[in-house]
Amino acid sequence: MSSVRVPGRLASPAAPVTLAPRVVTREEQFGAVAYVPDRDHFFGLSGAPARVVASLARGDPVAPDDADAVRSLAEVGIVHTAPVSPQRPHVGASLLGYFDEPPVVREPLVVNCFATAHCPLRCRYCHADDLMQSYRDSESDDEPWQVARMAAIVPALVAVVTGGEPLIRPERTRVLIRGLAAAGKAVVLDSSGVGELEPLLPVLREYGVHVRISMDSLDRCDNDRLRPINRRYLPAGTSSGERALRTLSDVAAAGLATTVQTVVTAGNENLERLRTMRDGLIGLGVRNWVLHVVVPAGKAALPRNRDLRPSPYVLPTLGELVKISEDERLPLNIRVTGTHRAPNSVLLVGSRGDLYVEREFGGKLRIAGPEDSRADVTEAFRRHVNLVEHVSRYLNGSIQPFPHER
Ligand code: SF4
Repeated sequence: MSSVRVPGRLASPAAPVTLAPRVVTREEQFGAVAYVPDRDHFFGLSGAPARVVASLARGDPVAPDDADAVRSLAEVGIVHTAPVSPQRPHVGASLLGYFDEPPVVREPLVVNCFATAHCPLRCRYCHADDLMQSYRDSESDDEPWQVARMAAIVPALVAVVTGGEPLIRPERTRVLIRGLAAAGKAVVLDSSGVGELEPLLPVLREYGVHVRISMDSLDRCDNDRLRPINRRYLPAGTSSGERALRTLSDVAAAGLATTVQTVVTAGNENLERLRTMRDGLIGLGVRNWVLHVVVPAGKAALPRNRDLRPSPYVLPTLGELVKISEDERLPLNIRVTGTHRAPNSVLLVGSRGDLYVEREFGGKLRIAGPEDSRADVTEAFRRHVNLVEHVSRYLNGSIQPFPHER
């Protein structure tokens, strides 16, 4: 069951149900996962919701008893019904059905893919730094092909084009997006918003790429303190925050789905500050917000950046933000990641086509290369990646109590 878009019917009374366009699904031991590109969000499904998705994937009718599950799936954009069911935001929620413990997958959900080692920013917490500095001068044109080839072997449903800054090397990014889409991945572009968007718009539109823009505050000064520019790439006085806002607006004007992502540090973990940013994003028309607790890896692990580390209360604070946002019924999808507890929860293909995982200490570990088979890569994923935290990152696991029923 994957990438299947087959019309289905409620057995009786007739009400056409289909998987929503470009939704990707996969069977899992606990039921199924579904990825909704417009929201850039995974849902874990068990019981009736998983049964409905499996039926639709096979082209079978949906049982009338599953009408409630169909409604729940339609509300979060996994299925379409006729007449159209209204959608609701998933605020910190990613599970439909009953789960007595955090779900675990057998194969990865997401693989991150390096587009370039160049970046016009010098974010204080950058954890890609070790794959950038020494690689910059020797980048070659065939690397995006190697990255796409490695990513194709990784059995992940979603590929995130990242870096470095993909917008600063649009030609490499274009090649990579095409290669990843050809490998059957749903593609996400992960960007600071600083670089050239215009040359990429055709390929972004062609493959329905969801664009994530990084912003740590809507206050230009606060944002730029954490995300300063690199003077080798940009003239003095350039504001990363202003450029991010402009790109966000341009992406939305181009009709592409967008997310704002924010790294939560000691500088912005205050609940009122987060609420102010949240309300500002809603005012800008943003519909998806991801908050990542800063990971103590790369530059964030350096003693000089110790002051960035948030308090032990950061996850409860984010849980409270989610709860009040849901209670206020705000039109904003929110995802929270707590990968600071387990840096080895993310897969990354470096710009030379090797597959890495972040270690708790000592930087990145190469776990596979393009010469390996899919079985070898899957085995390496299971051996080196914290499987619970890998899923948790994409399914709001760090703020999700168990058992869960919805
Ligand atoms: S934009 Fe990304 S790659 Fe560039 S410095 Fe910031 S965190 Fe690192």
